[in-house]
Amino acid sequence: MADTTLMDKLVSLCKRRGFVFQSSEVYGGLGSVWDYGPLGVELKKNVKDRWWRAMVHERDDIEGLDAAILMHPKVWEASGHVAGFTDPLVDCKTCKARFRADKIQDAQCPQKPSKKPGEHTTCELTEPRLFNLMFKTFMGPVEEQAAVIYLRPETAQGIYVNYQNVLNSSRQKVPFGIAQIGKAFRNEITPGNFIFRTREFEQMEMQFFVKPGTDMEWFERWRAARMDWHHAIGLAKEKLRWHEHGPGELAHYAKAAYDIEYEFPFGWNEIEGIHNRTDFDLGRHQEYSGKKLEYFDQAANERYIPYIVETSAGADRVTLTLLVDAYREEQVEGETRVVLGFHPAIAPIKAAVLPLVKKDGMPELADRIYHDMKRAFPVFYDDSGAIGRRYRRMDEAGTPFCCTVDGQTLQDGTVTIRERDAMTQIRVHQDQLVGWVRERLGA
Ligand code: ATP
Repeated sequence: MADTTLMDKLVSLCKRRGFVFQSSEVYGGLGSVWDYGPLGVELKKNVKDRWWRAMVHERDDIEGLDAAILMHPKVWEASGHVAGFTDPLVDCKTCKARFRADKIQDAQCPQKPSKKPGEHTTCELTEPRLFNLMFKTFMGPVEEQAAVIYLRPETAQGIYVNYQNVLNSSRQKVPFGIAQIGKAFRNEITPGNFIFRTREFEQMEMQFFVKPGTDMEWFERWRAARMDWHHAIGLAKEKLRWHEHGPGELAHYAKAAYDIEYEFPFGWNEIEGIHNRTDFDLGRHQEYSGKKLEYFDQAANERYIPYIVETSAGADRVTLTLLVDAYREEQVEGETRVVLGFHPAIAPIKAAVLPLVKKDGMPELADRIYHDMKRAFPVFYDDSGAIGRRYRRMDEAGTPFCCTVDGQTLQDGTVTIRERDAMTQIRVHQDQLVGWVRERLGA
């Protein structure tokens, strides 16, 4: 299967089954902005819930936060975003296309896709100019320079400026962390690859505050923990790898940085970054705000600005990774079976309840079972069409278990459970269904 074909098939499946739709589609769509449909919103919610559980609920040393998207404009001066959150942009005067100068090797000339921009005879590229990726807007009724504010391009800054609030209100001590999930906005020059790079997206970020000198040890611990998390949500291990930022690649604030990359149909790309940000962030906010952001370490009787180890993942990117990783086609009895083989903990629908036929009391019994199960986890009821077709529909939605109410159910109370991956069937008593499915969710 050609790689572009796989992405095309996935985009089409996502629309057909209600995972992801183009934003404002009735108006022709809005560039690189996407909406999550009924299955997509469940899938992405499962990603965020798993992250929150691993990073906040299961740990004693991390607190949660939900900071506002709009922040004081000085935040972005202190963080370096006003001056430096830029990409080099080049225009082609002939075809009016725009490219990131640093990614031009990966781009195609729109007039001649076999060539890179600048290589075709009619290309006329401008010199690169820096373009700030932050979305600007105005606060209040007057559109003047003094009222300019930004949509946050990352969630991290909301954590830094709240670090003392959390510290004082939670009784945490360094080392400790603050975790947040929220929207971020970047006016990307070349967005694309479906929900991989969009202009509005959600980040799952955790900032861990440590004593200087212990930072590299924590950095290594967090690297290991984050890779384990990606394995635990079911991603294929051989498709994940580390990319270390070399000296030329390191951001101005970072002492060390590694990306977790996944092998997408369009190549290896970052899904999460783990950064040792030193005392840069708190140091800058201390300088720009004039407020002391030091930590007093009672045990050691010393003051210092904590170092920060950051783990930063994109909820949309992880969702795309799960979709790509789960997609497979198989030949079954001369037909192509499309399956999204999600880990049951991640699957948007955990089980389907299907009456074999619409008579003999089967729909009524199936409906009762469905409502029983629905209280425990997301379940889908489907009574239309041949049973084989209904199984296929659930395979495409990634539903791990189908529970069929048939003639035998009416006699002995057992239902057929058909398992998505192996397509094997077993019988389980209706009273044990919720427990049986729950045991296999690996929650
Ligand atoms: P890239 O090099 O891909 O632009 P980045 O290095 O700028 O990413 P970070 O600033 O480290 O990314 O952001 C952390 C995470 O946020 C990324 O690993 C990614 O999962 C997610 N992310 C960043 N930009 C986008 C975007 N435009 N669309 C979707 N997710 C994004």
